[in-house]
Amino acid sequence: MSITQNLNKIKRSLPSGVTLVAVSKTKPEADLMEAYNAGQRIFGENKVQEMTRKWESMPKDIQWHMIGHVQRNKVKYMAEYVALVHGVDSFRLLKEINKQALKHNRVVDCLLQMHIAEEDSKFGLDADELKQILASDEFQQLKNVRISGLMGMATFTDDQVQIRREFKTLKKIFDKTKETLPEIDILSMGMSGDYQIAIEEGANMVRIGSSIFGARNGH
Ligand SMILES: *Cc1c(COP(=O)(O)O)cnc(C)c1O
Repeated sequence: MSITQNLNKIKRSLPSGVTLVAVSKTKPEADLMEAYNAGQRIFGENKVQEMTRKWESMPKDIQWHMIGHVQRNKVKYMAEYVALVHGVDSFRLLKEINKQALKHNRVVDCLLQMHIAEEDSKFGLDADELKQILASDEFQQLKNVRISGLMGMATFTDDQVQIRREFKTLKKIFDKTKETLPEIDILSMGMSGDYQIAIEEGANMVRIGSSIFGARNGH
């Protein structure tokens, strides 16, 4: 099936209220343009340089989401335009985004990435670290970032019971966090292999790459 057909099929399968991030990392701009021409406006990338290159040459009504791990020294290259940073997994990174956003007179939306996978190879905060960040005075003073929700990745496994359990954990943390930060409204979880489970467990943003654009090389 073509990118357009894949995209339309996935969009039809998403309940209303679930936002689709088309994960276009490693894919050529021609592929992104096919999705764009089919109506897609939110694209997710995991490398700042690649995202910036695409942002420079592609239509300006695209919202660029940084979904990968971000090194602090790369924040300055995306601060001018990035629409949502999904992978904020440290207070130092959040402070750097705030600093660079201020230079562009912007408030940058961020998701705090939670560690939910039972395997220990994935990035993310645990519930205590999240609490500490949100309770700190320093956090209250950051005026150029807005925490708009949470993001997480389940373990890469065929065990659907485990995946569901991990998404449930994140949803619980999300609901709990909403008690102190009622303005958060994005729960980003689910990829090509597990987005249906994620939606059943409360995701309202899914990040789908290979089911739209096809398999990636070298991953
Ligand atoms: C690559 C990636 C995705 C998309 O993965 P697919 O399996 O291709 O849908 C989603 N989220 C993150 C953080 C990724 O790095």
